[in-house]
Amino acid sequence: MIILKRKSLCLILNQIEKVEEESCGILLGTHNSTIKKVECFIPTQNITKEDKKNRFEISSKSYLEAEKQAIELNLKILGIYHSHIEASANPSLIDQKNAFPEFSYLIISLRNQMFSDIKSWVLNKDQIFIQEELLLSNH
Ligand SMILES: [Zn+2]
Repeated sequence: MIILKRKSLCLILNQIEKVEEESCGILLGTHNSTIKKVECFIPTQNITKEDKKNRFEISSKSYLEAEKQAIELNLKILGIYHSHIEASANPSLIDQKNAFPEFSYLIISLRNQMFSDIKSWVLNKDQIFIQEELLLSNH
């Protein structure tokens, strides 16, 4: 299960709702055996050279910087969030192909530049995405 504060979701939405291309970022937080808790997020640039309306890519430099920040804050990189423009919050085959094991992939579906849905996904041992329980918390 992954827990995301409603406040964090609002802050993410403020940054991504009006963007007409896929937005992305890195999630930091704590992780015990069963529960991931997002404590903060780092927006990153979408550097894909393909169509940014349905692809995203995070640079290795952004990952390194997030890693550094995580160490400073005594947190871990829990996963990645990205938006889908006029598409569901289900992962594409390319999302699955590019995913790292153990990371959570939060997908935020935007319709008419507004929040529509959010789902979290993790790879199983066969490298197939399965939906992960997502709890939006008030604190
Ligand atoms: Zn995607």
